[in-house]
Amino acid sequence: MPVIDLARLAARLPARPLTRFAPSPTGYLHLGHVANAVWVWGLARALGGRVLLRLEDHDRGRCRPAYESALLEDLEWLGLFPDVGTVAELRLGPSPYRQSDASESYEAALARLGSHAALFACDCTRKDLARESGDVLNEETPYTGRCRSRRLARATGRGLRLRVDPGVERFEDARIGPREQVPAVQCGDLLLQDRVGQWTYQFAVVVDDLRHGVDLVVRGEDLLESTGRQLLLARQLGRAAPPVFLHHPLIRKPGGEKLSKSSGDTGIRELRAAGMAPSEVLGRAAFLTGLRAIDVPLAPAELANLFGTG
Ligand SMILES: [Zn+2]
Repeated sequence: MPVIDLARLAARLPARPLTRFAPSPTGYLHLGHVANAVWVWGLARALGGRVLLRLEDHDRGRCRPAYESALLEDLEWLGLFPDVGTVAELRLGPSPYRQSDASESYEAALARLGSHAALFACDCTRKDLARESGDVLNEETPYTGRCRSRRLARATGRGLRLRVDPGVERFEDARIGPREQVPAVQCGDLLLQDRVGQWTYQFAVVVDDLRHGVDLVVRGEDLLESTGRQLLLARQLGRAAPPVFLHHPLIRKPGGEKLSKSSGDTGIRELRAAGMAPSEVLGRAAFLTGLRAIDVPLAPAELANLFGTG
């Protein structure tokens, strides 16, 4: 049984759809990234589409040029070549496919939002937010709306939020099926720019998918819950047809724990140093995310076959 209904997905997309591989250069490439790449390139090839490579380095404090170079080199080693935002182009210097080079695009998007939506400055610290919500603060603690009516001016040291009104976001994930989410309850007013002036992941990625014309977003299912807020933001930015989302299974450690960049034991560089061939790394990533029943080598040219075509 195929992992997804490819014909149904194709019918929801334009001809030669654009999808994207969008890692953050905050560490070395690991098997979790390769798993995502296998789904991205596999689907693009099976659909007759294209892959865009985007460097998501909006978090200036955690990204390093050395990680970016390593990432580009590792992708070449794996034989994964993007069609848009090529490695050669990204190595050349400033690029529209690197977030830190795209500040003007985010400012322009903000101006567009400001004209018809509710933006407000917010000076809440993590401490304020924790006190307000009365419990332990984590990434999913919804914003309480503390600064909504304070009419603070946009200024250094203040973040910027978009008011999120109650409402249900409905979408059909291409693997998981129909979903309903309520961003006002899940996260509340969305932070677009943080207190040190950095664009947030949620804002940058929605602006990027719009300006790059991404039709299909293929990502790990740990990000499933943020889909509704991205659809809402895309609509407010004037996007008529939202991208189709597909969330794939994550690679888990034997204990069930999600893999992270800090688990160096699965870093591509370590696997490479241990003598694994690129096709063996691709095959393992496909196996560990349920695309293949056995752990055998997979050549880049075979990626489309994972989805029942090629
Ligand atoms: Zn606030």
